[in-house]
Parts: sequence; structure tokens; C-alpha cells
Amino acid sequence: MNPARAWSVALIGLVGAMVEVEVHIGCGLPKTILVGLPDAALSESKERCKAAMAAVKLGWPSDPVTINLSPAMLPKAGSHYDLSIVAAMGAAKELCGNEALAERVILGELSLDGRVRPVRGLLPALLGAQQHGFNNVIVPAAQLREAALVEGLSITGVSDLPELFDVLRGGAGSSAPAVDEGVSVPVTELDMADVAGQREAKWAIEVAAAGRHHIYLHGPPGVGKTLLAERIPGILPDLDPGEALAVSAIHSLAGRQIAALISRPPYANPHHNATVPALVGGGSRIASPGAVSLAHRGVLFLDEAPEFAPKAMEALRVPLESGQVVIARAAATAVYPASFQLVMAANPCPCGMSSTPGADCQCPPRVIRRYAERVSGPILDRVDIHQHMRPLRASFLRAAMKSAEGSRVIAERVLAARQRQSSRLKEYGLRTNAEVPGAILRRELPLPVGIELVEEAVNRGQLSARGVDKVLRLAWTIADLAQADLPSAEHLHTALAMRRGEEL
Ligand SMILES: [Zn+2]
Repeated sequence: MNPARAWSVALIGLVGAMVEVEVHIGCGLPKTILVGLPDAALSESKERCKAAMAAVKLGWPSDPVTINLSPAMLPKAGSHYDLSIVAAMGAAKELCGNEALAERVILGELSLDGRVRPVRGLLPALLGAQQHGFNNVIVPAAQLREAALVEGLSITGVSDLPELFDVLRGGAGSSAPAVDEGVSVPVTELDMADVAGQREAKWAIEVAAAGRHHIYLHGPPGVGKTLLAERIPGILPDLDPGEALAVSAIHSLAGRQIAALISRPPYANPHHNATVPALVGGGSRIASPGAVSLAHRGVLFLDEAPEFAPKAMEALRVPLESGQVVIARAAATAVYPASFQLVMAANPCPCGMSSTPGADCQCPPRVIRRYAERVSGPILDRVDIHQHMRPLRASFLRAAMKSAEGSRVIAERVLAARQRQSSRLKEYGLRTNAEVPGAILRRELPLPVGIELVEEAVNRGQLSARGVDKVLRLAWTIADLAQADLPSAEHLHTALAMRRGEEL
């Protein structure tokens, strides 16, 4: 008998490759084997399929069954192959015709009682299927909204095995809701108005957000470093449609249910005990995205940055430089986008109290000095803004609470500054000041008024060549926030102070 065939998708990073699922029923003793480089979750698939088919009284052959996933060399992971395996089995048992499976991609995990469960990475898998010319898909009914985010597909949702075979025999199944009628996910973003005082730090955060600069917050525990960091996404502009699709695909792969495109910048805050794979992605065989990718087009916050393992910090270098992570395995190489804004925070010493007047800090000066230097040079080198924060006196606190500016007002200024940047930098294919190469800064764009200030700092050995570029980028952002066409001497002076972590 000829094998029955169905189609599924293997994901290598965010890239989908078509997988042909063949089921062959032979003669002899009952035994089911699954071949074609499956991972552990996929190897268990045959047990789920058998149990589910039995549960809905469709049965599993008592003859030997071979399930082959090809191309054989392609590594395959995950539980979403279940549905294509039972579909091919159904065709082999003549529960449906082979032609019903011919140009269709079928994705879904089975529970033991025959229900169809949601799968990770549905969005990138469907994008992959579409790229390979497959426009007809069957997906878990619970994920119809996620599937509908891919334009131009004919989508059918199924909630259990009987419904799957009904659809394969020509039934309707559930169809996808139109995207515009989809509920917009309410975004509960934290407001800057909740942070009392710290006007200077808030200003630094605004500059960082406007130019997409990396920022390092220094200060004792309780001054509001984390409060500020987690409010940065709330003052950033919306993602554009292409970014939103990429961010949604990454989060889908990480197992998040996507009901609408993620249109706001994401925020990731890995703990300082995070392993290298948790931080940059990895794991056995086919890697999964790490915190740097979950922060793609958003904010990566490293609280207590000096406590991160040197190896973990070192792993951030490549994504900081290239905006992506490449994970090479023997079987395949996965690429994950990872272009994020880095926000770090640190206490002044291991106990955190050395800069607080009257506090009992026992840390010797040598330890305090070394603590600050624990973040490796190449990472520190990427930081554009150093901001020191001090505790507020109680008398200031109440007044500061009342006058604090809300995120909406700040976001408007950030957006206006971004628009100035993108129109100025469009001819270079760039959008934000932080990404402008030194050569363009120094030779193509006009030099700020009072550039002698920076030259003096270089001559005195206070600023490196790389530092000059950073100061210029910051000065441009400060000018953009002030709606000025060219950075002034004052903007330059402020930029220099921010770069060196001095008080303004
Ligand atoms: Zn201390």
C-alpha cells in the first residue's frame, strides 16, 4: 500500500521548513515507529496519537506502522506534528481521501482524549508555510486569532479529532475571525507619574528612550532604578507593522498565546542568576529564543548588573553589536533577532549602602571600586549614558509626587524626537541617533556648535575616540528633544556630562 501523506512545518529559529509526514501500515506484529530526527517531545507524539485515536473510537492499526518525517536530515522538535500524523493515519485508514491532505498544512498537539491543544510558534510556522506556497491551513481552534494575523491564508480551526476528520471530509470547522474585529489586547503600561522626584534620572531616561541609547543607572537600593526601567517601554513609540510581526513571532515561539499583534515595545528583565542560554537563547538541539530576543525592539533590563556572571555578560556582546543571535548546532543553525535597548542598574557596592549618608557599609574601598568594574569593558563601552541616583528626602517626596509628569506627555516628546531623527537619517537608511556610525556623525552630519569643548576633553585624556562619537550621538538626541536643528554648545555640554555620569 502506498503511504498516506500530510504536511507540517519545522521551525529552525523563526524560519519555517516544510515537513512531509508519511504514514505506512504494513503487515506483521503491532509496532509503531517514528523516524526522521525527532526530539524527545516529538518521539512521544506516537503515544499521544495512539491514545487520542483510541479515545474517539477511531482506533490504531494492529499492524506495524511506520511514521516518517522528511526531509530526514532536518531536526524536528515540538508537539505540533501530532495533528498531521493522525491526519495521514486517517488517510491511510481511508477515513478521508489523500487529496484532502495534498496542499494543506495541519498543525496541532493532541491530548490523550482527542482534543486539539494550542502549539508554540504557530505564527512563525504559518508564515513559513505561506512562504512555501501553502495557503490552506488547519490549526487548533483556540489559536484562530493568532493564525488570522497572517494575511492571505485560508484558515480552519479544529477543536478535536472528530472535527478534524469532518473538515478533511469537506466539513466547515471553525473559521478565523476577521482581524479588525479581534479584541485589542489592553496594554497596562506603568506610568512615570508613579515615580516621585528623580527629575534628573527621568530626563536621562527620556533622552535614552528618544535616541535608543543604552543607559546605566547607579544608586543605592530603593531609589527607584527598577521603577524607572520598567516604565521605559511606556514612553517608547509603537512598533511599526514589520516590527510588530517579528516581535509577535518571537513571543509565539516562546510559548505566549498571541491574540493580536504585539504593537508595543516588549520588556525583558532576566535575573542575575540567568544562564547563558536563558539570556541569549540556546538549549539542546533546536534552540529557543532567550531574553535578548524577547526584548527585541524593546528594553532589556539587567538589574544588579555586576552580579551577572562574566560569561553571561560576555554573551551579550554579539547581539549588542549585530542585533541578532546565531545559535549553531550540528543539525542546523538558528538565527533570532535581538535588537534591544540595554538598561543596566547597579548598587554602589555589594551591600548597596556605601553612598547613603549615615548607613552602615562595611565594604572596603577596594571592594567598592572592584564592584563597579565587574561589568566587563566591552559592555560598559556600549553604554551611552551613566546616571547616578540619590535617595529623596522625605520632605521632598510629597511635593514631588504631585508634580510628577505622566508617561503620555513624555511619550509625545520622545515620538517627536524620533520623527526628527528618522527624517534626518532616512538617506542613510537609519532611524535613531544611537545607530549612526561614527563616520556619518563626523563627516556627513553638520558638527555641533562648540565642538572645541569635546576636542579639549579628548586632549585632556577625558574622552576616547569612541567616546567622542557617543557624545555627538547624545548631543543630537538632546537637540532633537529640544526641537533644535543643530546641537548647541549647551546640548554638547549636557551630552558630555551624561556620558561621564556627572551631575548636570
Ligand atoms: Zn557596602
